[in-house]
Amino acid sequence: MKVIKEPAEVRKTVNRVRNSGRSIGVVPTMGALHKAHRSLMSRARAENDFLIVTIFVNPTQFGPGEDYSSYPHNFKEDKEICSRDNVDVIFVPDKDDIYLQGHATTVNVTGGLTDYMCAKYRPGHYSGVATIVAKLLNIIKPHRAYFGQKDYQQFRVIERMTVDLNMNTEIVMCPIVREQDGLAVSSRNRYLTKAQRRSAPYIYKGLKEAALRIKAGEAVESKYIYEFIMDKIPEAKIDYAGVFDAKKLTPVSNIKNDVVIAAAVWVGKARLIDNVVVKTGEKQWRVS
Ligand code: AMP
Repeated sequence: MKVIKEPAEVRKTVNRVRNSGRSIGVVPTMGALHKAHRSLMSRARAENDFLIVTIFVNPTQFGPGEDYSSYPHNFKEDKEICSRDNVDVIFVPDKDDIYLQGHATTVNVTGGLTDYMCAKYRPGHYSGVATIVAKLLNIIKPHRAYFGQKDYQQFRVIERMTVDLNMNTEIVMCPIVREQDGLAVSSRNRYLTKAQRRSAPYIYKGLKEAALRIKAGEAVESKYIYEFIMDKIPEAKIDYAGVFDAKKLTPVSNIKNDVVIAAAVWVGKARLIDNVVVKTGEKQWRVS
């Protein structure tokens, strides 16, 4: 396994790999690797000949007052995990090599995809995400890039961007990895106190309950999800909770197509996001 900091060196390495006819998979991360990252890595490892994990805490996707400067990092441990999981290259660039002096280009994915959900509460976040992912995909030009369903809006934004910018990378969605009690695994779960950690799984329970009701033919309003979560986690501060079209990410009341039931909830210092997808295309509606 090689650790590479220089974009130019990564380019050289991937050119060699591509020219030898091998496929390249990439898993972009912000480090502090955990079992959810590892599940993406394992899928990418299985589907490609060469696996690159990128570690970069991208300043442009954090808003003022967000946790950029305190975001957890432990490169020694990340390196051990990657080495054990047969990663070929860890690409860990410096900020100044990604955002060169005079940097003046931003990628904006517009339309309904960035009108609702987290985009409403984190202005500029998805420009930051789209810009860094475009850069990483331009440097590496992988055959496939792997992202988690947990960051559902991020996935749809990146998927749209790669189509619109004619990028030749397949964007793959990987299922949400959860703790035993249902809480979605996240680097930010460590911000929770013990009591908060005990109540946090009720976010998922609320979304799941809403999904089951939708599956049973009930009309579920955001109010139902809000009340469910607030009843179980009185200290919660809900940014949003609701039912959105799974492709367009616009709010839905009369369900005809696949939907994503999603929420962003502050529990203490942690902003937790989670979602459940209800697929309506099949006879038996599927919840995932
Ligand atoms: P991050 O390091 O938090 O930016 O995450 C890197 C990638 O891992 C993103 O594509 C996330 O969607 C994905 N990821 C993080 N947590 C989970 C989870 N619990 N389940 C599935 N994917 C996840």
